[in-house]
Amino acid sequence: MSTQAWDETRVRELHDELVSLYEPVDRVAEHGADPTAEPGEGVRQLVTTILSQNVADANTSRAAAALFERYDDFAAIEAADHDELAETIRVAGLADQKTARIQRALAAIREETGGAYSLAFLDAMATDDAKAWLTAIKGVGPKTASVVLNFYFGKPTMAVDTHVERVSKRFGLVPESASNQAAHDALDELVPDELTYPLHVLLIRHGRERCSARNGDCENPVCERYCDCEFCA
Ligand code: SF4
Repeated sequence: MSTQAWDETRVRELHDELVSLYEPVDRVAEHGADPTAEPGEGVRQLVTTILSQNVADANTSRAAAALFERYDDFAAIEAADHDELAETIRVAGLADQKTARIQRALAAIREETGGAYSLAFLDAMATDDAKAWLTAIKGVGPKTASVVLNFYFGKPTMAVDTHVERVSKRFGLVPESASNQAAHDALDELVPDELTYPLHVLLIRHGRERCSARNGDCENPVCERYCDCEFCA
């Protein structure tokens, strides 16, 4: 673990050095200038993110395509027969669990808005309150909530997936013993608002390309400066 303490300045330096190692991250290019102009106002992002839990991206895309092709709208998805819906999204894995999560989330949204399938009301809420509203839905954890709030609404909260969590711990951004929830809290506290999205993308890239669970390609300028964890000692 790096012995130097982390603060905003050092996080900005880490971001800049990861950009030098990889490339700048442009949220607008990836999610559009105004993603909230898309129909569904965040609901589609939430449903797709639930589908993506514990499964590869390609299977998420296939399940989402099948889901939105089979059902005309969110009302039809909420009202769908459980087994039929589970069969439709089976390629995403954990189909029964994800079916229940999606239908529960849609019901919660409809009840909150008085009938509309829209998460636009989250935009006006403070980030912590919006996150609390989403995570109160059984099956919606901190990562799913942060994906919706950060990717879609541009709110400053970092989604901590397995790569972000592993690399953050090896860099000492987050204590080795931290739970996923604690890692979310620590990174939201530490990372400057405008870097929550780009640093999320860059840490994933670093995890995928150089710092897997079992192997580390540790000879690069970023790791030489920021990591002296036991794994690569
Ligand atoms: S690649 Fe090696 S040096 Fe870099 S973060 Fe992973 S374990 Fe640490």
